[in-house]
Amino acid sequence: MTNPLDSLVDLTRALGQPAMDYVIIGEGNTSMAVDAESFAIKASGQRMREIAADGFVTVPFAPYLEWLDNPEAPAPELTQPDGLRPSIEASFHAMLLHDCRVNFIGHTHPTAVNQILCSPYAADFAERRRFPDEVVLCGPISLLAPYADPGLPLAIEMRKHLQDFIAQHGEAPKLILLQNHGLIALGDSAGEILNITAMAVKSARIYLGAQQLGGVVSLPEREVYHLYGRPDEIYRRRRFVDENGAE
Ligand SMILES: [Zn+2]
Repeated sequence: MTNPLDSLVDLTRALGQPAMDYVIIGEGNTSMAVDAESFAIKASGQRMREIAADGFVTVPFAPYLEWLDNPEAPAPELTQPDGLRPSIEASFHAMLLHDCRVNFIGHTHPTAVNQILCSPYAADFAERRRFPDEVVLCGPISLLAPYADPGLPLAIEMRKHLQDFIAQHGEAPKLILLQNHGLIALGDSAGEILNITAMAVKSARIYLGAQQLGGVVSLPEREVYHLYGRPDEIYRRRRFVDENGAE
């Protein structure tokens, strides 16, 4: 019998494979909207690479959204009867699943991406694009969130920047980059999360290589938006989602 969490389990294990170098030990977390009221998220301390359905907890959105609006209130107490607790990052997962209306979120700390996010080039990497497939999968621009203490402070800081981003660009980002921390991929399917994460890592490697060859040449902004708005590229983007998002 299939478990409703199967696609989340498969996604989490795929992101956690050591060869990918996206996370080590207990790093990273994933989540999935279960219905309008609740979401499933990796439990605190679970390793992504070997997680099973019992490594996730399903919790309601409401306590987190209320906590974000009223940070002075005590933290929601959502420890499960079996002792599992939601990831410390549950507040930003709740906020992003809700505010961006996506089904899946994957948060990882890839070495290739963090090399740039721990450097003075984080904003240039986030705000510009180098090649067409990066535009197609990761969108025309990523949201760069400044460093904040993991947990509620990070969720509050990210929400402020997210609201500005949506006001400016008219849509939510596909990729959020956290200064000195890692990345968050947002998508409608588990496959989209894998694609965005893989493309962000490839882009980071290209960025690093180009720096070593004398400097990065980014695409002009008009080319980026031309690619993003082309009907054939929109079709291609749609197919990436359809082909990889069986759930
Ligand atoms: Zn993290």
